[in-house]
Amino acid sequence: MSTIVQKYGGSSVSTIEKIKKVADCVIEKRKQNHKVVVVVSAMGDTTDDLISMARHISDHPDKRELDALLSTGEMVSSSLLAMAIIEKGFQAVSYNAFQIKLKTDGTYGKSLIKEIDTGLIEKSLNEGKIVVVAGFQGISYEGDLTTLGRGGSDTTAVALAVKLDGICEIYTDVDGIYSVDPRLYSDAKKLDKISYEEMLELSSLGAQVMHSRSVELGQKYSIPIYVGLSCSDIKGTYIMEVNDMESKPITGIAVSDDDIAITIKDVKYDINLLSLIFETIAERKINVDMISQTSPINGFVNISFTIPKNDKDECIDVLKGFGYNSLAVDENITKFSVVGIGMKTTSGVAARLFKIFSNNKIEVKMITTSEIRITCAINNDEKLKAVQLIAKEFNL
Ligand code: ASP
Ligand code: MG
Repeated sequence: MSTIVQKYGGSSVSTIEKIKKVADCVIEKRKQNHKVVVVVSAMGDTTDDLISMARHISDHPDKRELDALLSTGEMVSSSLLAMAIIEKGFQAVSYNAFQIKLKTDGTYGKSLIKEIDTGLIEKSLNEGKIVVVAGFQGISYEGDLTTLGRGGSDTTAVALAVKLDGICEIYTDVDGIYSVDPRLYSDAKKLDKISYEEMLELSSLGAQVMHSRSVELGQKYSIPIYVGLSCSDIKGTYIMEVNDMESKPITGIAVSDDDIAITIKDVKYDINLLSLIFETIAERKINVDMISQTSPINGFVNISFTIPKNDKDECIDVLKGFGYNSLAVDENITKFSVVGIGMKTTSGVAARLFKIFSNNKIEVKMITTSEIRITCAINNDEKLKAVQLIAKEFNL
């Protein structure tokens, strides 16, 4: 009898009708004689609504109280789901973070899970009960409620699968992971599988399918994570160990419009000055991503870099401190990334990419790479064109 940990996202439990439907799907698994643990997110937009209520009280709500508030969403959905299962004649029990002693490092709003005591869960499973766990929440060693960060129920599910040595299935309102966001490229193909590494790169680049921490956990403990459509037989995607040898050079494309580019003109060409500028930016906790520099002319260079949109004012403030008052700020950039573990073993991927950009007059403003990723900053209004061209070229 295998243990299955299933997670249902907010959209899958957004109404009472949907909760009843999830109850049916879960019961189906139980009937097949599996031990079933279900992790739920809060119903629909509950978490957003709770945040908005808090914001009506304060621009910066007290972090402890905010986490206490946000944890309530998952308490509602987990008890309702357990109730629905019981109503259909099966045994179920819901547990919150206190009951399963899900301990975290205590950071409000983005806690890491430290330990889980699965004793109670295992006892209930052995009694034939379906166990429903409130996702996203934990408790600090001081005994406060803390949350795992937006989308954190995925991580609750993977952590439980690790501890219970079970299979992990994440159910959501999309039927798997696509090579490209189908809203940007309607011919995008669904992936049968994707490696942990690729999924992590894509998540950090703006593909908001999975909570990154959950993928890291899956990778660390070699637990395959299945992502699929709730209550459906349509085949989804496995996030798992993938052998590079069989991979295409590129697995997916991600685009993000969350950054801006700042250019400082006529900076004295001096590495000490450069390091001081970036150190000062880092001290303000502003995350610089892409950087480029022109070659020196008469001892002066132009330096461009990207930062998150939200940090614009603070960054300009820092640079003014250095006496740079006339800065070029480009708010219309898109970070366009291609990701694939196949790049480790295939050469010429960058060349193909740049050739298409140059043939189609798409201006590349900055570039960064990792072993499995190439990111280009391009003009926002060329995003769709770039996605279509590259997706076609690499058969995504
Ligand atoms: N309800 C939380 C959120 O909206 C956690 C989750 O859905 O996984 O972020
Ligand atoms: Mg999610």
